[in-house]
Amino acid sequence: MESPETSDVCIICNKSNALRCKRCKSASYCSKSCQRGDFPIHKLLCAKFSAFDILERPTEEHVRAILFPVDQRQPNLIWLHCRWKEPEDEYDRRHQSPNSEPYLNDYGREVPIQYNNVLARRLSNTVCVSYRDTFLIDGSAPNRSIEAITDTIPGYHHDWRGPIIAYGKVGPDLDPEQCRDIDMNDFRHIADYLNSYGSDLTSIPAVPPANCRKVKGVKINCLGDQKVLSKPHFEEIELSANDIIFRHHETSDIAKRIGLPILTKRCFPHPTWANIQDWGMFENHSPYNNQDATFLHLSLDQKTGSNISEGILGFGWAPTQWQNNVGTTVVVRQDKKPLLPMQMEVLCSYCRYHARDCLAHTMGEYAPDDPMSKGLALSMICRPTFSIWWYRMCNEKHKKGESCDAPFPYSV
Ligand SMILES: [Zn+2]
Ligand SMILES: [Zn+2]
Repeated sequence: MESPETSDVCIICNKSNALRCKRCKSASYCSKSCQRGDFPIHKLLCAKFSAFDILERPTEEHVRAILFPVDQRQPNLIWLHCRWKEPEDEYDRRHQSPNSEPYLNDYGREVPIQYNNVLARRLSNTVCVSYRDTFLIDGSAPNRSIEAITDTIPGYHHDWRGPIIAYGKVGPDLDPEQCRDIDMNDFRHIADYLNSYGSDLTSIPAVPPANCRKVKGVKINCLGDQKVLSKPHFEEIELSANDIIFRHHETSDIAKRIGLPILTKRCFPHPTWANIQDWGMFENHSPYNNQDATFLHLSLDQKTGSNISEGILGFGWAPTQWQNNVGTTVVVRQDKKPLLPMQMEVLCSYCRYHARDCLAHTMGEYAPDDPMSKGLALSMICRPTFSIWWYRMCNEKHKKGESCDAPFPYSV
C-alpha cells in the first residue's frame, strides 16, 4: 500500500505548511534554507526515488523499501516482499512479515523508529531498519552507502556494517501489523537515526514541564546556530532540575578553580546546517565552530600528561572533543543556581583572553627562554582576577550604552 500523504511538516525544522521537493514530490520543506540543509543527504536518493515506477509493484504484498548496499555510495530502492501471516495463536494478530533474508543473507534484527531524537518529533508512521544482528563480529564489511550519510556530519559515528534495509509500517503502534511504501521523509528520519546513533550529544534541550522545578542555564550557540537560525551568541534557556545534564556532563577546570563550578554538554547539530559542506555562507569557517566553548575547557591538570588516543592533550589544552566540530554547548551551574547569558559571556572572555594568556606563557609563547611556571600561572587564575574581569567588562558595556544588569555571579 502507498504511504499516506499526511506529512506537511518540515522534515528539517518541524514547521507546518511545508511544500514538497519538486523532483521527487515526497520530501517536505518549509523553506529553501531547510531544503538546502537536507540536500547533501536527500540527493543520495531523490533521483532514484523519482524514477522508481510505482506501477511495477510485483504483487499487493510488495512495498517500496530502501537497500543500503555495502559496496556503493548510493542507496537503492527495492520491492520488498511482506507476506501476510495468519495469527499463530490467540495472542498473535494477522500481520505482514518483511522478507529481509535475500538482502541481508540473514534474518536480521528489526529496529522500529518511532521518535526522531534530532527533531524531537514523534513520528506518525513507524520506520523500520533491519540489519545483521552480529555485523560487528561476523566479518561484515563497512557499509559505504551508510558512510555517505554519516560523512555529512563530522565526528564519531557508529560503525555500520553489512547490508541494511529500511521499510515503513503503518501507524505508531507498538507492533504495527501492516507494511507501507517508504518515502523521502522516512529517508531523512533514517539518516537522523544513523547519524545520531550512539552519539553522546544531547539533542535540543526539551522545554521542562510546567510543574517541574526549573534551572536557568545558557546555550553558547555555535556559528551555524548564530548565522542560520539567528540565535544570540549567549542564549538564556530553562532546563528541568532533573535534566540529563545533571547526570551526564563535562566540567571546566577554570570555572572550578575560580569557585564557579559548571556542567557542560554539547548539543546535536541542527539539521538546517549540520550537513552543509560548502562553508561559503560561514565565511569558510566551520558552522560547528564554537571557540568560546573550546577555551572554557582548557585543562589545568598538571598531573595527567597528554594521551592523544584518549583525546587528552594535557595542561593548557582543551581535550580533542572540545577542539573541533564542537557545536552549540549547554552550560548550567553545578549548584543549580541561575546562570545568565552576561555571566557566561564574562566567564568565556576570561577563559579566552586572561586564562589562555597565562597558560600560553607557561608554554613559552611570550618568552621562549623564560616561560612562566605553571604554579604562577595557576595562581593568576583565581576569583580576584575574575572579579576584576567582571567589573571591567561591566564598565565597557556601560560605556557602549549596553545594559549590564546581571548580578555578580558570586552574590547569587
Ligand atoms: Zn523547515
Ligand atoms: Zn526530492
